[in-house]
Amino acid sequence: MNKEDLIYYGKRVYEKGLSPATSGNISCLDDNNNILITASGSAAGDLTADEIIKMDFSGNVLEGNKKPSSEKNMHIAIYKKRPDIRAIIHSHSPEITAFAVSGSEINEIIMPEFGFYFGSIPISKYYLPSTMELAEDVANLFKNKNAVLMKNHGIVVGGINLKEAFYSLESIQAYCKTYLCAKLLGKVKALNKKQIKEIDNLKH
Ligand code: 13P
Ligand code: ZN
Repeated sequence: MNKEDLIYYGKRVYEKGLSPATSGNISCLDDNNNILITASGSAAGDLTADEIIKMDFSGNVLEGNKKPSSEKNMHIAIYKKRPDIRAIIHSHSPEITAFAVSGSEINEIIMPEFGFYFGSIPISKYYLPSTMELAEDVANLFKNKNAVLMKNHGIVVGGINLKEAFYSLESIQAYCKTYLCAKLLGKVKALNKKQIKEIDNLKH
């Protein structure tokens, strides 16, 4: 992946309401396994090539004149923990963040698609943004999950590439919107254990 891919998916992330104003950050690995990451304070929908910083796995800047995202340690910690993940999107989507603010993991399977792809989404503790503590807690939760809620903050999603990370994020946003609308209608009826087992069996 390259800077153009990041700019393209930055636009899509913004257009879907997944990164209001300058919130969130995006990164991916290039062919040399260096990290391309958005500059701190940049807006996903308006990224320019000079707002994408190349850095190594120690956070040393290799290319670019701006500061890399303040959450760079979180991106690095996830890449180190999960060599299969090559793209990461951190988002403050309001609908998803509503769940992060409610303080518990997402674990009600209300639609088959969500059960199939995610099962549940764990939540980190609250830490001050940009801290090593936040980076480590989130990365630990990535051990066997590709998406983690950050308490009172937002979400981080990983994928084998930017396209996969983007689609996962969009699917989680769709789940959250659907859940919240169903709540407005008065009832949320989750699938039962038997129905969830049947969905799990589709994987084999
Ligand atoms: P940056 O602009 O430094 O990437 O920070 C945005 C953010 O969402 C911090 O958690
Ligand atoms: Zn953030």
